[in-house]
Amino acid sequence: MSGPRIYLDYNATAPLLPAAREAMLSVLSATGNPSSVHREGRAARRLVESARQEIAALVGAKSENVVFTSGATEAASTLLAPDWTFGRGAVRFSRLYVCAADHPCTLSGGRFPADAIMRVGVDADGVVDVGGLAAALAVHDAAEGLPLVALHLANNESGVIQPVARISAIVKAAGGVLVLDAVQAAGRIPIDLAAGHGDFVILSAHKLGGPAGVGAFVGAASLMMPEPLVRGGGHERGHRAGTENVAGIAGFGAAARCALEGLARMDAVRSRRDRLETVLRSIVPDAVVYGAQTERLPNTVFFGIPGIKAETAQIAFDLAGIAVSAGSACSSGKVGPSHVLKAMGVASGEGGLRVSLGEATSDADIDRFAEALRGIVARRPAMGGVATAA
Ligand code: PLP
Repeated sequence: MSGPRIYLDYNATAPLLPAAREAMLSVLSATGNPSSVHREGRAARRLVESARQEIAALVGAKSENVVFTSGATEAASTLLAPDWTFGRGAVRFSRLYVCAADHPCTLSGGRFPADAIMRVGVDADGVVDVGGLAAALAVHDAAEGLPLVALHLANNESGVIQPVARISAIVKAAGGVLVLDAVQAAGRIPIDLAAGHGDFVILSAHKLGGPAGVGAFVGAASLMMPEPLVRGGGHERGHRAGTENVAGIAGFGAAARCALEGLARMDAVRSRRDRLETVLRSIVPDAVVYGAQTERLPNTVFFGIPGIKAETAQIAFDLAGIAVSAGSACSSGKVGPSHVLKAMGVASGEGGLRVSLGEATSDADIDRFAEALRGIVARRPAMGGVATAA
């Protein structure tokens, strides 16, 4: 198929925004360690602190509660720990409650032993079983330690948004702490730690149009903190050692600023996503859109085509010049059944195809997607499926 490539895989990684690129380039041509007290060091420190403010603003937090990491996975591994401090005192979390449809960075349980991790299920729409979580927390043995709850705010595969206000209230009533993986939600829906969107959020720059390899965790308060994962110097107020990735952090800050501004334009992304979904349903009337009955991110469609394996369709789209994903892209090339669909109780072996849009996605891109989709479903009988009027 002719024409430039079309990128519809923003949930895997978003294209680097020009503002992030510029911010990074200006850091790369300067020298300075933010811990140095000379002029160069102070200039680097200013860049880090100004990025910290941009990130805090994106999630409704104070900038002093932002801790930079090498990405969301490190942020989750830091927070998902049994041993914390509260001021000068020690706090112990005896059990971790995660969601079965979480990204592996929280699902794996961080520094908790396997027998201290409990998985809470989701319903057929991918919404966490809030009643099940409440029931589990109701029998949590507080004598052993506090409960720590970690789950995604928005799912990376389905885009399903979790009812965090309800979950927050339940966790608070149980005396626990709530960590939200806000990686996919940030910049797509408003996040407000000050308004009770959990106790901590974790973020990743490359999902927002910043660079990969930089992220953060952000607290609603600063008194209760996990024992550091990366120990060494006193960087990040002692919460994460190592010289800051100034270029990455500057790019993250610029991307966070753009993401906050971009929230006002998300309705346009939503209407394109809705148009893509309408096109999908008209070309493939038997397509199943996962999570369609509940609240989803404005940029994501996750669907199955009966008779065509998602991986086969993904390759066909790729050959047609369109990048989409068969599930998530987090395990470098690994193709396997989606644990998210499994958690939702989806029995079909076809898997899910994820299309995720960004602000740059145009109507012409959706027309090209439709054309490629028509070609793919026309070959459905040869792929082992049943032909439909395409
Ligand atoms: N959480 C979610 C929901 C994600 O989608 C991803 C990446 O795909 C991550 C966490 C991991 O982020 P990072 O690549 O910064 O470690």
